[in-house]
Amino acid sequence: MSERFEMVFLGTGSPLPNPDRCGAGTVVVAGDTHVLVDCGWGAARRILPSGIRPSVINTALFTHMHTDHMTDFPDFLFLRWTAGAQTPLRVFGPEGTAEMVEGFLLALRRDIGFRMAHHGDKLHPDGIRVEVTEIPATPEPHAFLDITGLRCESFEVDHAPVVPAFGYRFSFDGRVAVLSGDTSLCDSLAAAARGADMLVCEALNVPMTEQRIAALKAAGMVRESALLADVPSYHIATDQVAALAREAGVGEVVLTHMIPPVANDPEQAAAFRAGMIDVYPGPIRVARDIERLPVVKRAS
Ligand SMILES: [Zn+2]
Ligand SMILES: [Zn+2]
Repeated sequence: MSERFEMVFLGTGSPLPNPDRCGAGTVVVAGDTHVLVDCGWGAARRILPSGIRPSVINTALFTHMHTDHMTDFPDFLFLRWTAGAQTPLRVFGPEGTAEMVEGFLLALRRDIGFRMAHHGDKLHPDGIRVEVTEIPATPEPHAFLDITGLRCESFEVDHAPVVPAFGYRFSFDGRVAVLSGDTSLCDSLAAAARGADMLVCEALNVPMTEQRIAALKAAGMVRESALLADVPSYHIATDQVAALAREAGVGEVVLTHMIPPVANDPEQAAAFRAGMIDVYPGPIRVARDIERLPVVKRAS
Protein backbone atom coordinates (compact mmCIF):
# COMPACT_ATOMS: atom_id res chain seq x y z
CA MET A 1 0.00 0.00 0.00
CA SER A 2 1.30 3.42 -0.87
CA GLU A 3 2.14 5.89 1.87
CA ARG A 4 0.16 9.06 2.46
CA PHE A 5 1.30 11.85 0.14
CA GLU A 6 -1.11 14.78 0.06
CA MET A 7 -1.36 18.46 -0.67
CA VAL A 8 -3.44 20.35 1.88
CA PHE A 9 -4.52 23.75 0.59
CA LEU A 10 -4.68 26.41 3.29
CA GLY A 11 -4.96 29.38 0.97
CA THR A 12 -5.65 29.37 -2.75
CA GLY A 13 -6.01 33.12 -3.30
CA SER A 14 -3.76 36.00 -4.24
CA PRO A 15 -3.32 39.57 -2.93
CA LEU A 16 -6.78 40.41 -4.33
CA PRO A 17 -9.41 40.18 -1.57
CA ASN A 18 -11.69 37.16 -1.72
CA PRO A 19 -13.90 35.87 1.10
CA ASP A 20 -13.43 32.25 -0.05
CA ARG A 21 -9.67 32.22 -0.57
CA CYS A 22 -6.86 33.20 1.77
CA GLY A 23 -3.32 34.10 0.74
CA ALA A 24 -1.00 31.35 -0.45
CA GLY A 25 -0.31 28.41 1.85
CA THR A 26 -0.02 24.66 1.30
CA VAL A 27 0.98 21.82 3.61
CA VAL A 28 2.78 18.92 1.95
CA VAL A 29 2.00 15.77 3.94
CA ALA A 30 4.31 12.81 3.28
CA GLY A 31 3.88 9.94 5.72
CA ASP A 32 4.21 11.66 9.10
CA THR A 33 6.13 14.62 7.70
CA HIS A 34 4.39 17.98 7.32
CA VAL A 35 6.02 20.79 5.35
CA LEU A 36 4.40 24.20 5.11
CA VAL A 37 4.95 26.05 1.84
CA ASP A 38 4.23 29.79 2.15
CA CYS A 39 2.01 31.41 4.74
CA GLY A 40 0.02 34.30 3.26
CA TRP A 41 -2.82 36.23 4.87
CA GLY A 42 -5.24 33.92 6.68
CA ALA A 43 -3.34 30.72 5.85
CA ALA A 44 -2.26 30.02 9.45
CA ARG A 45 -5.92 30.13 10.55
CA ARG A 46 -6.73 27.40 8.02
CA ILE A 47 -4.32 24.87 9.57
CA LEU A 48 -6.58 23.59 12.36
CA PRO A 49 -9.73 23.42 10.19
CA SER A 50 -7.61 21.41 7.73
CA GLY A 51 -7.17 18.76 10.41
CA ILE A 52 -3.49 19.49 11.05
CA ARG A 53 -1.97 20.30 14.44
CA PRO A 54 0.37 23.29 13.94
CA SER A 55 2.94 21.70 16.27
CA VAL A 56 3.59 18.84 13.82
CA ILE A 57 4.88 21.27 11.20
CA ASN A 58 8.62 21.48 11.78
CA THR A 59 9.67 22.74 8.35
CA ALA A 60 8.48 25.75 6.35
CA LEU A 61 9.48 26.81 2.85
CA PHE A 62 8.92 30.15 1.18
CA THR A 63 8.64 30.69 -2.55
CA HIS A 64 9.24 34.45 -2.59
CA MET A 65 8.92 37.59 -0.56
CA HIS A 66 5.48 38.85 -1.69
CA THR A 67 3.09 39.65 1.16
CA ASP A 68 0.40 37.21 0.02
CA HIS A 69 2.91 34.41 0.70
CA MET A 70 4.23 35.46 4.10
CA THR A 71 2.18 37.80 6.28
CA ASP A 72 0.53 35.06 8.36
CA PHE A 73 3.92 33.61 9.32
CA PRO A 74 4.04 35.32 12.77
CA ASP A 75 0.61 33.92 13.55
CA PHE A 76 1.74 30.46 12.48
CA LEU A 77 4.80 30.69 14.75
CA PHE A 78 2.61 31.44 17.75
CA LEU A 79 0.03 28.78 16.87
CA ARG A 80 2.81 26.22 16.56
CA TRP A 81 4.46 27.27 19.80
CA THR A 82 1.29 27.33 21.91
CA ALA A 83 0.24 23.99 20.38
CA GLY A 84 3.30 22.46 22.05
CA ALA A 85 6.23 22.73 19.64
CA GLN A 86 9.48 21.96 21.46
CA THR A 87 11.94 22.27 18.61
CA PRO A 88 12.93 25.20 16.41
CA LEU A 89 11.12 25.60 13.10
CA ARG A 90 13.42 25.02 10.15
CA VAL A 91 12.80 27.55 7.39
CA PHE A 92 14.12 27.43 3.84
CA GLY A 93 13.64 29.99 1.10
CA PRO A 94 15.27 32.34 -1.36
CA GLU A 95 17.53 35.24 -0.51
CA GLY A 96 15.52 37.61 1.69
CA THR A 97 14.04 34.84 3.84
CA ALA A 98 16.43 35.45 6.75
CA GLU A 99 15.66 39.17 6.75
CA MET A 100 11.92 38.50 6.69
CA VAL A 101 12.10 36.04 9.59
CA GLU A 102 14.33 38.37 11.59
CA GLY A 103 11.85 41.21 11.06
CA PHE A 104 8.86 39.16 12.18
CA LEU A 105 10.74 37.87 15.25
CA LEU A 106 11.69 41.43 16.16
CA ALA A 107 8.02 42.43 15.97
CA LEU A 108 7.12 39.46 18.20
CA ARG A 109 9.98 39.93 20.68
CA ARG A 110 7.98 41.61 23.45
CA ASP A 111 5.06 39.20 23.20
CA ILE A 112 7.39 36.20 23.31
CA GLY A 113 8.65 37.60 26.61
CA PHE A 114 5.11 38.24 27.89
CA ARG A 115 3.99 34.68 27.08
CA MET A 116 7.01 33.12 28.73
CA ALA A 117 6.54 35.29 31.84
CA HIS A 118 2.87 34.31 32.00
CA HIS A 119 3.00 30.59 31.11
CA GLY A 120 6.45 29.65 32.43
CA ASP A 121 7.69 26.21 31.43
CA LYS A 122 4.39 25.26 29.78
CA LEU A 123 5.91 26.85 26.69
CA HIS A 124 9.21 25.43 25.50
CA PRO A 125 11.70 28.20 24.67
CA ASP A 126 12.92 26.30 21.58
CA GLY A 127 9.38 26.12 20.16
CA ILE A 128 9.46 29.77 19.12
CA ARG A 129 12.94 29.66 17.65
CA VAL A 130 13.55 29.65 13.90
CA GLU A 131 16.55 28.33 11.98
CA VAL A 132 16.79 29.80 8.50
CA THR A 133 18.65 28.44 5.50
CA GLU A 134 18.66 30.48 2.31
CA ILE A 135 18.80 28.31 -0.80
CA PRO A 136 20.82 29.30 -3.88
CA ALA A 137 18.76 30.17 -6.95
CA THR A 138 19.22 27.62 -9.71
CA PRO A 139 17.06 27.03 -12.80
CA GLU A 140 17.64 23.27 -12.50
CA PRO A 141 16.00 21.50 -9.55
CA HIS A 142 18.34 21.72 -6.57
CA ALA A 143 17.96 19.14 -3.78
CA PHE A 144 18.25 20.91 -0.43
CA LEU A 145 16.44 18.67 2.02
CA ASP A 146 15.44 15.06 2.60
CA ILE A 147 13.09 14.30 5.48
CA THR A 148 12.43 10.60 5.98
CA GLY A 149 12.08 9.91 2.28
CA LEU A 150 10.52 13.24 1.26
CA ARG A 151 12.98 14.79 -1.15
CA CYS A 152 12.63 18.57 -1.55
CA GLU A 153 14.09 20.43 -4.51
CA SER A 154 13.91 24.11 -5.38
CA PHE A 155 14.08 25.74 -8.79
CA GLU A 156 14.09 29.38 -9.79
CA VAL A 157 11.04 30.66 -11.66
CA ASP A 158 10.39 33.92 -13.49
CA HIS A 159 8.39 36.34 -11.33
CA ALA A 160 10.49 39.42 -12.15
CA PRO A 161 10.95 41.93 -10.64
CA VAL A 162 10.65 39.52 -7.69
CA VAL A 163 14.12 37.94 -7.79
CA PRO A 164 14.75 35.26 -6.79
CA ALA A 165 11.44 33.41 -6.74
CA PHE A 166 11.18 29.64 -6.36
CA GLY A 167 9.00 26.70 -7.23
CA TYR A 168 9.42 23.41 -5.36
CA ARG A 169 9.47 19.77 -6.44
CA PHE A 170 8.62 17.04 -3.93
CA SER A 171 9.32 13.34 -4.45
CA PHE A 172 7.98 10.72 -2.09
CA ASP A 173 7.18 7.02 -2.29
CA GLY A 174 7.53 6.89 -6.08
CA ARG A 175 5.40 9.98 -6.76
CA VAL A 176 6.26 13.57 -7.67
CA ALA A 177 4.37 16.81 -7.01
CA VAL A 178 5.52 20.21 -8.23
CA LEU A 179 4.42 23.56 -6.81
CA SER A 180 4.96 26.39 -9.26
CA GLY A 181 5.12 29.29 -6.81
CA ASP A 182 4.30 32.58 -8.56
CA THR A 183 5.68 32.68 -12.07
CA SER A 184 5.16 33.58 -15.67
CA LEU A 185 5.65 30.85 -18.26
CA CYS A 186 9.29 29.76 -18.00
CA ASP A 187 11.53 26.89 -19.08
CA SER A 188 12.59 26.00 -15.53
CA LEU A 189 8.97 25.29 -14.52
CA ALA A 190 8.44 23.19 -17.65
CA ALA A 191 11.61 21.22 -16.90
CA ALA A 192 10.77 20.67 -13.22
CA ALA A 193 7.21 19.61 -14.10
CA ARG A 194 8.38 16.95 -16.55
CA GLY A 195 6.80 13.66 -15.58
CA ALA A 196 5.23 15.02 -12.38
CA ASP A 197 2.17 13.19 -11.11
CA MET A 198 0.67 16.47 -9.88
CA LEU A 199 1.40 20.05 -10.91
CA VAL A 200 0.02 22.62 -8.48
CA CYS A 201 0.17 25.75 -10.59
CA GLU A 202 -0.72 29.37 -10.11
CA ALA A 203 -2.95 30.69 -12.91
CA LEU A 204 -4.33 33.86 -14.41
CA ASN A 205 -7.41 33.86 -16.60
CA VAL A 206 -6.75 36.51 -19.27
CA PRO A 207 -10.33 37.28 -20.45
CA MET A 208 -11.63 37.44 -16.86
CA THR A 209 -8.76 39.73 -15.85
CA GLU A 210 -9.33 41.99 -18.85
CA GLN A 211 -13.02 42.21 -17.97
CA ARG A 212 -12.16 43.26 -14.44
CA ILE A 213 -9.64 45.86 -15.63
CA ALA A 214 -12.31 47.36 -17.92
CA ALA A 215 -14.94 47.29 -15.16
CA LEU A 216 -12.65 49.13 -12.72
CA LYS A 217 -11.88 51.74 -15.35
CA ALA A 218 -15.58 52.18 -16.17
CA ALA A 219 -16.27 52.70 -12.45
CA GLY A 220 -13.73 55.54 -12.33
CA MET A 221 -11.19 53.46 -10.36
CA VAL A 222 -8.37 54.45 -12.66
CA ARG A 223 -5.47 53.66 -10.32
CA GLU A 224 -6.85 50.22 -9.38
CA SER A 225 -7.46 49.47 -13.04
CA ALA A 226 -3.91 50.49 -13.99
CA LEU A 227 -2.40 48.44 -11.14
CA LEU A 228 -4.36 45.34 -12.18
CA ALA A 229 -3.16 45.86 -15.76
CA ASP A 230 0.42 45.35 -14.48
CA VAL A 231 -0.43 41.94 -12.99
CA PRO A 232 -0.51 39.59 -16.04
CA SER A 233 3.15 40.26 -16.91
CA TYR A 234 4.42 38.09 -14.06
CA HIS A 235 1.84 35.33 -13.92
CA ILE A 236 1.08 32.33 -16.10
CA ALA A 237 -2.14 32.26 -18.15
CA THR A 238 -4.51 29.30 -17.93
CA ASP A 239 -3.93 28.33 -21.59
CA GLN A 240 -0.16 28.41 -20.97
CA VAL A 241 -0.58 26.13 -17.95
CA ALA A 242 -2.52 23.66 -20.10
CA ALA A 243 0.10 23.66 -22.86
CA LEU A 244 2.97 23.31 -20.39
CA ALA A 245 1.25 20.43 -18.59
CA ARG A 246 0.62 18.60 -21.87
CA GLU A 247 4.20 19.08 -23.09
CA ALA A 248 5.63 18.00 -19.74
CA GLY A 249 3.43 14.89 -19.52
CA VAL A 250 2.00 15.98 -16.15
CA GLY A 251 -0.48 13.53 -14.60
CA GLU A 252 -2.86 16.04 -13.01
CA VAL A 253 -3.14 19.83 -12.82
CA VAL A 254 -4.39 21.64 -9.74
CA LEU A 255 -4.88 25.37 -10.13
CA THR A 256 -4.29 27.71 -7.22
CA HIS A 257 -3.55 31.44 -6.66
CA MET A 258 -6.35 32.25 -9.09
CA ILE A 259 -6.32 35.71 -10.65
CA PRO A 260 -8.82 37.28 -10.77
CA PRO A 261 -10.38 35.83 -7.61
CA VAL A 262 -13.04 33.18 -8.17
CA ALA A 263 -15.62 32.12 -5.59
CA ASN A 264 -16.03 28.53 -4.38
CA ASP A 265 -18.62 28.00 -7.04
CA PRO A 266 -18.55 25.28 -9.71
CA GLU A 267 -19.71 27.69 -12.42
CA GLN A 268 -16.94 30.19 -11.70
CA ALA A 269 -14.37 27.42 -11.44
CA ALA A 270 -15.51 26.07 -14.83
CA ALA A 271 -15.31 29.56 -16.35
CA PHE A 272 -11.83 30.02 -14.90
CA ARG A 273 -10.40 26.89 -16.52
CA ALA A 274 -12.41 27.27 -19.76
CA GLY A 275 -10.45 26.13 -22.80
CA MET A 276 -7.81 24.20 -20.86
CA ILE A 277 -9.55 20.89 -21.43
CA ASP A 278 -9.12 21.33 -25.20
CA VAL A 279 -5.35 21.43 -24.76
CA TYR A 280 -4.55 19.22 -21.78
CA PRO A 281 -6.07 15.71 -21.59
CA GLY A 282 -5.61 15.02 -17.86
CA PRO A 283 -7.68 16.06 -14.84
CA ILE A 284 -7.76 19.80 -14.06
CA ARG A 285 -8.98 20.98 -10.66
CA VAL A 286 -9.48 24.40 -9.17
CA ALA A 287 -8.26 23.99 -5.58
CA ARG A 288 -10.27 25.27 -2.62
CA ASP A 289 -9.10 26.39 0.80
CA ILE A 290 -9.04 23.54 3.35
CA GLU A 291 -9.03 20.99 0.55
CA ARG A 292 -6.85 17.91 0.82
CA LEU A 293 -5.79 16.22 -2.42
CA PRO A 294 -3.80 12.97 -2.60
CA VAL A 295 -0.86 12.82 -5.00
CA VAL A 296 -1.73 9.79 -7.10
CA LYS A 297 0.63 7.94 -9.42
CA ARG A 298 -0.56 9.11 -12.83
CA ALA A 299 2.34 10.17 -15.02
CA SER A 300 3.78 7.41 -17.21
ZN1 LIG B 1 1.25 35.62 -4.95
ZN1 LIG C 1 4.10 36.90 -6.10
